[in-house]
Amino acid sequence: MQYLEKILDDLKNNNPGEEEFIQAAEEVLSSLSPVLQEQPDYQRSAIVEKLVEPERQIFFRVPWQDDDGQVHVNRGYRIEFNSALGPFKGGLRFHPSVNASVVKFLGFEQSLKNALTGLPLGGGKGGADFDPKGKSDDEIMRFCQSFMTEMSRHLGPNTDVPAGDIGVSSREIGYLFGHYKRLTNRFEGVLTGKSAELNGSVLRTESTGLGIAYFIQNMLKDKDDTLKDKRCLISGAGNVAIHLMKKLKDMGAIVLSCSDSKGCLYDENGLDVECVAKIKAKGESLQSYTEQNADATFTSIDDYPSDGHQVWRYKCDIAIPCATQNELGEADAKALVDNNCSLVCEGANMPCTAPAIDYFKDQNIYFGPSKAANAGGVAVSQFEMAQNASMQSWSEQDVDEKLQDVMAHIFKTIRDTANEYGCENNLVMGANIAGFKRVARAMLAQGVV
Ligand code: GLU
Repeated sequence: MQYLEKILDDLKNNNPGEEEFIQAAEEVLSSLSPVLQEQPDYQRSAIVEKLVEPERQIFFRVPWQDDDGQVHVNRGYRIEFNSALGPFKGGLRFHPSVNASVVKFLGFEQSLKNALTGLPLGGGKGGADFDPKGKSDDEIMRFCQSFMTEMSRHLGPNTDVPAGDIGVSSREIGYLFGHYKRLTNRFEGVLTGKSAELNGSVLRTESTGLGIAYFIQNMLKDKDDTLKDKRCLISGAGNVAIHLMKKLKDMGAIVLSCSDSKGCLYDENGLDVECVAKIKAKGESLQSYTEQNADATFTSIDDYPSDGHQVWRYKCDIAIPCATQNELGEADAKALVDNNCSLVCEGANMPCTAPAIDYFKDQNIYFGPSKAANAGGVAVSQFEMAQNASMQSWSEQDVDEKLQDVMAHIFKTIRDTANEYGCENNLVMGANIAGFKRVARAMLAQGVV
């Protein structure tokens, strides 16, 4: 459609070199022509142009002092992408790879992901190119305080509510929260992912992993199938992967692999997930697992195939990339299909490259997109906001049931949307169209803002 092509061309010209952001936008825009054909008022109101342009972009200096007194400077980001449905909501990522393109792709995806939950949440994302690896606890605290010194002026429980992402867990959220409270004199739900003593929600830490397992359960149930005895390849060994692996095991699946920045771990008889979790909690490399479990093999990243990632080169039924963006490329996709994989579900944000997704589609692989599958984290963040606003705490059973309801709602919405638009089983189209329509209707109702 010429109109969408023109928007994409303008986007490329206005955001030069921002490959991840363009990749995320291109995937969504390529799904939208059927909606625009039935809704000509969207074009007149420039709904798509608004969708791809962040409402506000904040880039700031974050100076901090290390334990030797040396001053360092990092760049902080908060992209307030879209507030049509509620306050800006989305995580903070502290990782050396963070740049404007990465934060914008994450913020864009978050706006649609949050729309799919059916909850009253806008979308945003932030972070810094700060590497928490090897830093002392005091250094992390000083960095968080400096970051919050600037960011506090942009936040509020009804304005913008950050959470964690890669490199930001309840420890960092605690330091950020403490400094926000000191600066503003307000104890309020301005961050989610807080620990229990700061009125965080039960299950927030586990929720992204749990939500992915529930989403896959829904995908399979729709085909009269279950997770029982399914052989699963997983990448990553962070918060998302660990809780997903535990839940998959509880549901009767066999977890064959996981990976970290040094390499990947594989055991054809299934990994001892508790042992993996203990190793990662101690901050050790996955390699040490093989010292305790002789059947497992560890492949260093130096020995990975030249065209991709070792973790995708084993026989499996299901593959779930949970590490980071663009970690699964076309050669990996081909290897998975050759190895009998029939379902791929994205756990991380945008972990599959565009050619990999195209290949899965050509081969009729049942594919769950991240903006639907990993929305359990932000859903429980919204539960945390609701608990904080009403000064209540919900039970674990309540939160778990509500999370299962949200994941079932997301699956049903995107499956039905795909069917309505004549692309049965294409959950990518279903998610893009359903997320877009909810944001578009809210933007239209608010006039030219
Ligand atoms: N960073 C998470 C995500 O990618 C969670 C965001 C949140 O809880 O606000 O969805």
